[in-house]
Amino acid sequence: MADFSSLPLGALSISHSLEEDESSASAELDYDPSLNEHSDLEHSGSDKPEEACGVFGIFAPGVEVSKLTYFGLFALQHRGQESAGIATFDGDTVHLHKDMGLVTQVFDEDILGGLLGSISVGHTRYSTTGSSRVANAQPVLVKTRLGQLALAHNGNLVNTVELRDQLIADQWSLETTIDSEGIACAIAHQVQSGKDWLESAISACQQCEGAFSLVVGTPQGIMGIRDPHGIRPLVIGILPKENAEDEGPVHYVLSSETCGLDIIGAEYLRDVEPGELVWITQDGLASFYWSTQPERKLCIFEMIYFARPDSQMRGASLYSYRTRIGHYLARESPVEADIVIAVPDSGIPAAIGFSQVSGIPYVEGLIKNRYVGRTFIQPTQKMREMGIRMKLNPLRDVLEGKRVIIVDDSIVRGTTSRKIVKALRDAGATEVHMRISSPPVTHPCFYGIDTDSQDHLIAATKSVAQIAEQIGVDSLYYLSWQGMLDATHESSENFCSACFTGKYPIAIPEPLKRSKLMLEESAIA
Ligand code: SF4
Repeated sequence: MADFSSLPLGALSISHSLEEDESSASAELDYDPSLNEHSDLEHSGSDKPEEACGVFGIFAPGVEVSKLTYFGLFALQHRGQESAGIATFDGDTVHLHKDMGLVTQVFDEDILGGLLGSISVGHTRYSTTGSSRVANAQPVLVKTRLGQLALAHNGNLVNTVELRDQLIADQWSLETTIDSEGIACAIAHQVQSGKDWLESAISACQQCEGAFSLVVGTPQGIMGIRDPHGIRPLVIGILPKENAEDEGPVHYVLSSETCGLDIIGAEYLRDVEPGELVWITQDGLASFYWSTQPERKLCIFEMIYFARPDSQMRGASLYSYRTRIGHYLARESPVEADIVIAVPDSGIPAAIGFSQVSGIPYVEGLIKNRYVGRTFIQPTQKMREMGIRMKLNPLRDVLEGKRVIIVDDSIVRGTTSRKIVKALRDAGATEVHMRISSPPVTHPCFYGIDTDSQDHLIAATKSVAQIAEQIGVDSLYYLSWQGMLDATHESSENFCSACFTGKYPIAIPEPLKRSKLMLEESAIA
């Protein structure tokens, strides 16, 4: 078999046609490997679990979709701030632009103007596999005999090594260190063996284990695919047509979250179901269930923290869910205090819920600098020592002399919590009671969320009393596991909550376990 390869992925901006592929084994792309060398970024060092990615796609014949895709990714920016990319299909020609940075930094009018076509795939990334460099940005492009495919992936495979070994044995040369490239090449491999797009995608997905919500673009249409557990979300929307007389095919949108639909005026149709593939072409939307054992296990952290509060999960409002977990928290852990404040923005709905049940007024006590974003200018050491003041500034006139309940959604390492508590006391708070709207995070995630290895998780090694002492609060309470799940108004069986329990719904291979489950060596051995 020929030495197939995915397209050089460091190319920041390319346009490429099937005809060119056929005349040239080595595509002449604007590829400069040195671009990869200086793009490495520091780990964010965030004290929060980091979301893996946002995926997006549009099928809208007759419409130039690059700007719509840009705004979709803009709405999904919270899911990944390291890199962004868009691929568009203009007949057989694919246009791709991707780079490190926020969506607003990666694209401008000129670049979007060059991304021609009415089929798109977009991606915004935080690295959970592979390092943070432009070569690992997505979408991934791969050449096949049927044309190119562009793939955007949210989640993590747990059998990446096996998949890559198989592809290398099948003479594929892989260009990157990301699992997503393995999925794209696995699909392409099936195409090269003679199957059509649909059969190829299904065969490839059946080789993949782990978490994957995918948007796959081809010259014929787009696919939305979810793994059999539906760990990461993916929704379908309908884009209204500008011309109501247009009798052509329905215009569809795929998005990690409904906020990506709202921003472009698309209407939520439904979720892509666990183990489902939707194939959207000129013939409409066709649904295929490719897994024999689909089982709902949506990541509960999507509900608590990752997804935007204005998004819906399975048609239910996340803002309402987060307010409800505040109700549970207030009932489970009452405390006398003067005010309830939130760690903005993610703690706000639960803090409001806490206030509603406790009757203690909710006020703003910390102001967030919403423009810090991700800056390429590193702060000085002196500025680092100032800690959280870069992002959060306490309101002295609100806090002075007050007994404060502060609500946050999670504590991972505890470093930020300690700084926040100190800032509240420095601003005059007489008591600080911290309430967390999720249970203690004791286990790492293997399905696309960066929660660090187990030995870095403060709740894996310390009791609640020890954590309270370390972060310097007068009292600390975490929401119960049952409360977190009861507030969903669904069966607890429908969610993955492994980072609170260690009960992983998808088996983790031993070498991968050892890489993160540092405190459970004996259990693994
Ligand atoms: S382990 Fe935790 S973060 Fe990972 S998918 Fe499960 S609930 Fe979500």
